[in-house]
Amino acid sequence: MKPDYLIVGSGLSALVFGALMANSGKSVQILEAHEHPGGFGHTFTMAKKYTFNAQLHYVWDCGEGQTVNRVLKQLGLDREVTFERYNPDGFDHMRMPGYALDIPSQPEELIRRLSALFPAHNNRIRQFVHEVEKTGAGLKILAPPVKPTELLKYASEVFCAVQYLNSTLQDVFDKFQLPQAAQTLLALQWPDFLLPPNQLSFYAWVILFRGYQAGAFYPTQHFDHVINSFVKVIESHGGQVLLNHEITNFIVTDKTVMGVEAMDLTTHQTHKFTGDTVICNIDPKKVAKMIGEQKFSRKLRRKLNYEYSASNFMAYCAVKDIDLRDYGFGKWNLFHTGHEDLNAAFTQMYAHNDFSNPSFAITTPTLLTAARRDCPEDCQIVEFLTVANYDYFKQLREHDRKAYNQKKQEILDSILDVVEKHYVPNFRKHMVFHITGSPTTNERFCWCPHGNSYGSSLTPRNMGLGRLNHETSLNNFYFCNASSGYPGFAPTIWTGALLYQSLSGDVILGNG
Ligand SMILES: Cc1cc2nc3c(=O)[nH]c(=O)nc-3n(C[C@H](O)[C@H](O)[C@H](O)COP(=O)(O)OP(=O)(O)OC[C@H]3O[C@@H](n4cnc5c(N)ncnc54)[C@H](O)[C@@H]3O)c2cc1C
Repeated sequence: MKPDYLIVGSGLSALVFGALMANSGKSVQILEAHEHPGGFGHTFTMAKKYTFNAQLHYVWDCGEGQTVNRVLKQLGLDREVTFERYNPDGFDHMRMPGYALDIPSQPEELIRRLSALFPAHNNRIRQFVHEVEKTGAGLKILAPPVKPTELLKYASEVFCAVQYLNSTLQDVFDKFQLPQAAQTLLALQWPDFLLPPNQLSFYAWVILFRGYQAGAFYPTQHFDHVINSFVKVIESHGGQVLLNHEITNFIVTDKTVMGVEAMDLTTHQTHKFTGDTVICNIDPKKVAKMIGEQKFSRKLRRKLNYEYSASNFMAYCAVKDIDLRDYGFGKWNLFHTGHEDLNAAFTQMYAHNDFSNPSFAITTPTLLTAARRDCPEDCQIVEFLTVANYDYFKQLREHDRKAYNQKKQEILDSILDVVEKHYVPNFRKHMVFHITGSPTTNERFCWCPHGNSYGSSLTPRNMGLGRLNHETSLNNFYFCNASSGYPGFAPTIWTGALLYQSLSGDVILGNG
């Protein structure tokens, strides 16, 4: 039967859109290439006992009345899908030789801690943090749906935000002349963007930084429970999530998208699927190529001309007979750099594939919730994340599999050397499982072009006025994905909910 909404891809924004539509009485069918739903947010189990989320680590906007909570309430899931808060006194632990800064929720406390480290720069630090606050407030007013009365009421905040439209984080660090080490401590969560300060949009940094200050969260029942809850809503309303179905072609008549052809990857048979409206969660640029770019309006083609974000290296590990809480881990992330200049550190790893002095993130999901184990009682899960170059890994994997595996091992070893030197002396002795993921792993398991991590790269150009939204210039066809909204758990939930809101007229999101 032809559904009201045929959705291709089961990433978070698609699942949220699908769940909201199904909940409102519409028929929904989702086609997904992978064997698990959730896209970047999917969960997998190794050796039958260690469970890892592919990419998600920590999330924001999940508190009472915030975006995620509003969507969950609408779906009747808010009591079932709950979140544990990271330590508000230090949710990101920034570490580099000679310096340590735990980022607190309160901006005034952040000023106090930074000023204690850099007493000669107290005023500049204060001005910078206040500017971040003001810009963030302005961006909230500017987020769709925009209310003209709010624009007037908060004109000063809006003006403050608008002046940074084309700024990188580095531009603003330079404007306030922050000392190099302070810049590094503030920007050390760079793996959350996979961009260094001199390329990262100031807007993107402000949104994420303030988002986590307002509350960094981890799902009480881990991320698979969140994903499965959205799938359950769809299925309990008669909708369908068909896994192992790879879209190979779009059926387009004139300027109207009618449906898709998809190959069942278990039988290798191709079937046609149609829908009154087709929602596209697959990367928009890739889809435009599949459909034929000339079918899209000139304005749309300009918007589709974005660069992809960098790809990444992940190590998924389990340690046994050790409690990482004894070594300074807990309800927070740890970000490390050996290099005081993050721009140089990024270039060294990303452009030169040199990981001899790595900068990376460490997360410990087992320590974030006690409600459900992600591994046996005597074990803990630890994950490491850093940037990696797609072209380099693609070339290695295709031409020299041994060198590809050696490079992954080399990066892990270089990270583990740092871990053993600075944080957990006998880490390797306790490591009972590990598996590494490269840019080509992303491409194979998340179907993302060039192994990109966040869709379009979070540069000022891509975050500016020409950013893509759900409009496609084709009939009955809408984009619903990180690149046509914003990347991240809360932002993709917002993206799916905003599309639901504009197609249904049912207002569930407030402003900001
Ligand atoms: C390393 C890394 C770490 C991250 N950490 C965090 C974090 O800590 N916190 C946070 O908030 N966010 C994080 N993110 C970002 C977040 O995971 C993503 O922005 C978000 O999950 C993207 O959702 P999406 O709706 O755009 O869909 P995607 O996840 O991109 O899903 C698209 C779906 O389409 C499917 N698909 C593609 N092509 C086809 C095809 N031809 N046929 C059928 N199906 C197809 C894919 O298999 C996939 O399931 C991280 C991302 C990465 C890469």
